[in-house]
Amino acid sequence: MTIQILPEEVASQIAAGEVIERPASVVKELLENALDARAQQIVIRVEAAGQRLIEVSDDGVGIAENELQLAVARHATSKLRSADDLYRVATLGFRGEALASIASVSRLTITSRTKEATTATRLLIEGGRSGAVERAGAPFGTQVRVEDLFFNVPARLKFLKKEITERQQIDALVTRYAIAYPRIRFQLFHDGRSALQTSGNGSQREILANLYGVEIARQMLEVAFTEDEVQLTGYISPTNITRSNRREITFFVNGRWVQDAPLVSALLQAYQTMLMVARYPLAVLFLRLPPEEVDVNVHPAKAEVRFRKPERFFVCVQRAARRALLAYSPIPQINPPGWRSQPPSLPLSAPKQIDPAWEMSAQTDDIALSESPPATQAPPLQTELASGQLPLLRLVGQAGNTYLVAEGPDGLYLVDQHAAHERVLFERFKTRSPATIHSQTLLEAAVLHLPAHSAALLEEQIEPLKRLGFLVQPFGPGTFRLTAIPDFLSDADPLAALRAVVEDIEEDETPLQGLLEDRLIARICKRLAIKGGQVLSTEEQTALLRELEACQSPRTCPHGRPTMIHLSVSLLERQFGRRGSR
Ligand code: ADP
Ligand code: MG
Repeated sequence: MTIQILPEEVASQIAAGEVIERPASVVKELLENALDARAQQIVIRVEAAGQRLIEVSDDGVGIAENELQLAVARHATSKLRSADDLYRVATLGFRGEALASIASVSRLTITSRTKEATTATRLLIEGGRSGAVERAGAPFGTQVRVEDLFFNVPARLKFLKKEITERQQIDALVTRYAIAYPRIRFQLFHDGRSALQTSGNGSQREILANLYGVEIARQMLEVAFTEDEVQLTGYISPTNITRSNRREITFFVNGRWVQDAPLVSALLQAYQTMLMVARYPLAVLFLRLPPEEVDVNVHPAKAEVRFRKPERFFVCVQRAARRALLAYSPIPQINPPGWRSQPPSLPLSAPKQIDPAWEMSAQTDDIALSESPPATQAPPLQTELASGQLPLLRLVGQAGNTYLVAEGPDGLYLVDQHAAHERVLFERFKTRSPATIHSQTLLEAAVLHLPAHSAALLEEQIEPLKRLGFLVQPFGPGTFRLTAIPDFLSDADPLAALRAVVEDIEEDETPLQGLLEDRLIARICKRLAIKGGQVLSTEEQTALLRELEACQSPRTCPHGRPTMIHLSVSLLERQFGRRGSR
């Protein structure tokens, strides 16, 4: 074939493909335009999950009549003037290609009116072919109607998922933007039915309920963190609310929803050892930093960004999340029936009279204020954890061969012996330096067969595994020889232990060395810990309590379940009617 320059139409369809992948991408671009236009109210109407219609109307600044043609031209933007501006972009858009891209793969009608104009103007473009600008009657602001998306790109149409999936994508997107911009009123309709409506009163937690349901929204922990010119706000889940994947972890950077794996790992690090294996937190976090600290021009759909000083922001995320988690003590308290469940035992002064739904956020604020950490260097995480340590406990006895009953200065504790022992073992292994994990050679090498994809994963981890005490050698396709295991595992089934490791690697799409070790050890601890139903001597019970007191995070087992239930003095008094209920 000879070399030829592609016809304009083909070239623009190719370019459009980068920006507009599915109906939700259209919604995102149009939403961003409305936000950039400083709209106070945005109404989105969707039909057939966006394939028949996506209409976004705003009450923003509008487009002047003589610029309407230009707005839909490729590389036409009012938001950027020179290449230098690229390094301090303060708007969501800047590439000037969204409207052009959408118009080349749909029938797009744009109607707009500025505050100064006496009438609105309208323009229709079908598959990139533009009509003439006409006068129309319309209120101030801009309305973009996108009909029959991909009507001229049958290949794309075929790749669209089921309506329900595309619809969910749109809902997830609009809801998250609504949380990010709580002062703007959002309305979303699917086939004429209201799917989301926000009040614009600035309350994020209210909108959070649309994302997670009222119960979870109420329990989400508030994050409010500022360090120099970096600000992180938002919500993260307490350790008892998790998901099986990372999809519910959302980051906004300077008002823009971005996918950034390192930010997500930073958050996961904050939860380390507090969550069950293969469970992930929920989070909606908003990072604000000076525009020149972040390069937004690395992805056509602007979904990725690059930070100038990544480590710095990751540390902020980790620290902020850790602080929010610690402010919320994970000892569950038993509430008498009819009592609203509340965040337990926060060390607070006099409770304020506030709407119960808002109590938690207010309390978290109090703590953030009273703590007032030095702006530069917060204490390392280990020291921070000390605040979660236990008071000295006096053993009362064992109940049901499963729970230890103990007394502390502030009431009664019921300790789950299995969970507590898991925690103790876990911290014992963790505090040994890797050099002291010794391999124990097996009398007879064990042979493991794995399907191809698992084998490939295991092969990559042979070196790190060696550091943990597992000696594994490839032994033909899909086959491995296990010749040694860590010494602290000497009484476990070697192949079962190795299989647990492989499963671990499979579950985590991006195995981080630190995480892998922790998880592995957590599994092992589960295997070795005292079981429920096991009789313990008084000495064993006391020893377990002492060791638990010495733990850094005594209140949860390594999988995130609570190790204890706390019955506070005041709760007991209330329950026995010794004191009025508050
Ligand atoms: P970008 O947002 O990157 O500038 P777009 O193709 O999305 O590129 O939009 C092109 C231009 O059209 C914008 O720069 C803006 O001036 C104008 N525009 C688009 N949508 C709106 C809107 N809803 N309100 C006002 N102006 C708009
Ligand atoms: Mg735009």
